[in-house]
Amino acid sequence: MRTHDLTTVRNLGILAHVDAGKTTVTERILHRTGATHKTGEVHDGTTVTDFDPQERDRGITIFSAAVTCTWAGHRLTLIDTPGHVDFTAEVERALRVLDGAVAVFDAVAGVEPQSETVWRQADRHGVPRIAFVNKMDRAGADLDAAVASIRARLHPAPLVVQLPVGREDGFTGVVDLLRLPSDAPAEARRRRRVLEEAVAELHPLALEEFCAAGTVSAETLEKALRELTLSGAGLVVLCGAAYRDRGIEPLLDAVVAYLPSPSDVAPVREDRPADPAAPLAALVFKVVSAATGRLTYLRVYSGTLRKGDQVRAGDRTERIARVLRVQADRQSEVDSAVAGDIVAVAGPKAARVGATVSAPGAELLLEPPVTAEPVVSVA
Ligand code: GDP
Repeated sequence: MRTHDLTTVRNLGILAHVDAGKTTVTERILHRTGATHKTGEVHDGTTVTDFDPQERDRGITIFSAAVTCTWAGHRLTLIDTPGHVDFTAEVERALRVLDGAVAVFDAVAGVEPQSETVWRQADRHGVPRIAFVNKMDRAGADLDAAVASIRARLHPAPLVVQLPVGREDGFTGVVDLLRLPSDAPAEARRRRRVLEEAVAELHPLALEEFCAAGTVSAETLEKALRELTLSGAGLVVLCGAAYRDRGIEPLLDAVVAYLPSPSDVAPVREDRPADPAAPLAALVFKVVSAATGRLTYLRVYSGTLRKGDQVRAGDRTERIARVLRVQADRQSEVDSAVAGDIVAVAGPKAARVGATVSAPGAELLLEPPVTAEPVVSVA
């Protein structure tokens, strides 16, 4: 993986109603990608993403944290977004710095009020999404009903790309409808047909192939699904049971296949392209005050941020003492961060959430100046 190859970067959020399983999905992703080997359980308060004691006490994810892991040669940074209704401003901030998202739903409850609120926020920010219907192992879990509620309340074109195997307690996993084995059951073949027809209706290339060959190849389906995800015209739907570690690998594959890289999204500003050689523009989206010092989380939109650099942050000039990539259970120091990266830096003493970090002489403001300073304290 080359550091400057933006196409192998995915900055994504996991959006969900409280209790849909966002924390569990995040934990399983980190476990599966090898970012952490201790799989924290939600109920005993040892999850590794929720490192703030207040969060652990309340059992909900209050503050956004960014965690980096690797999958199939891609660098995935998960930006945690609060699911609780009281923290929509924080959700907005997180939506600003991510490029795509996985919306998690409960297979029994389907679309819940808070999922709808977060969905509309993501719509406003134009965030491409895929959906993960979680808790397929629960009594009453029903993928078709969950998809019907998504269609009725959120998105007119859900595109189910998997066949769940087994029901409720007997749920054992999923079959990929794009690459069906030759001995696939009739129900899988029927669902594949439904998917082909739905994609053909939305995508000219798929339609052409469908008309000519009576079927659509996996390659064309994947290409079409990616474009439909990026434009928002279609919504890829997957399912699983995070708690049982079912459906996590296909979800990671879908993140890589369908969600955008920083080079797929519009630049933050015309004169600040997602290019390491462009003038620096970064946005502070979280500040954590820990015993080891103050950490400032940044999304770099353009340019390069190097250790030792003097930068403009808000109305001050500050020195970047260290650049850190934050993994689930550790931080690793790097020499620089480039356009598309999400990192934490040490050094700036006064940079606030919402502040723009830019090069002296090439200053800009990505957001209006803020007065309040939400700093998260970690014991
Ligand atoms: P969050 O509030 O969205 O972060 O949800 P959590 O990850 O904390 O999960 C809420 C509850 O649902 C916890 O008790 C989890 O153990 C449980 N849960 C999460 N995923 C699954 C799943 O796939 N199946 C079942 N049955 N329960 C799950």
